[in-house]
Amino acid sequence: MMLDTLQLMNFAAENEKLKAFSDFLKSENAKYNLTAVTDDKEIISKHFFDSLVGERFLEKGANVCDIGSGAGFPLIPLAVLRGDCSFTGVDSTQKKVNFINAACAMLDIKNCYAVHARAEEIKPRGSFSAVTARAVASLNTLCEYCLPALRVDGVMIAYKGSAAEEEVAEAEKALVVLGGRVEEIFRYTLPTGEDRAIIKIRKTAPTPTKYPRPGNKPRLKPIK
Ligand code: SAM
Repeated sequence: MMLDTLQLMNFAAENEKLKAFSDFLKSENAKYNLTAVTDDKEIISKHFFDSLVGERFLEKGANVCDIGSGAGFPLIPLAVLRGDCSFTGVDSTQKKVNFINAACAMLDIKNCYAVHARAEEIKPRGSFSAVTARAVASLNTLCEYCLPALRVDGVMIAYKGSAAEEEVAEAEKALVVLGGRVEEIFRYTLPTGEDRAIIKIRKTAPTPTKYPRPGNKPRLKPIK
């Protein structure tokens, strides 16, 4: 499993931080709902292992925004493993933002903080070199959340299930309109057996300023 693998790979300090984060997540989750995944094996596989797969797509020193971070995934595992990068988590639920910032303070994670905002409000536009998102929205909606925040030539890293090709087909128009191109679909299997995929999208052109649209339109009326 990932935490033991990190230990073997001489990432002892990172491993300790991830274990401490897992303990903090479980204790806070007992007080208020943060995640439906509570079994230790599942937390390691479905939260930690899955989150860390995206690390391969982050260039050295990347300035990363994680949209819809929830209880800190993939945000916190990536921030712990990639001390060379800076991370901003964005979530529309205040208690999740508070949880992430409390975890970062407690675990002395200095390259990461979270802000309470909607993805449609991220400012300044075009400022991040990478944007990650897991379990937030369908790909066409997600493109409207992520691509405006990216600088041209930056990468969007969308964590998805096994139906990645269908999502890409559905997002074809959104990608053209918003200035993105799919570079890779990276498939993998979690230690607990579920198939997953990461869709890597390159921002190839500036996003027209009318996007993202306000009023929850990216979700209610996705570009089709
Ligand atoms: N990324 C985390 C994970 O994989 O465990 C959380 C996934 S959770 C299903 C989706 C999260 O996205 C929620 O915390 C929700 O508040 C947030 N979210 C949904 N739409 C959003 C938006 N438009 N702007 C910011 N956050 C949003």
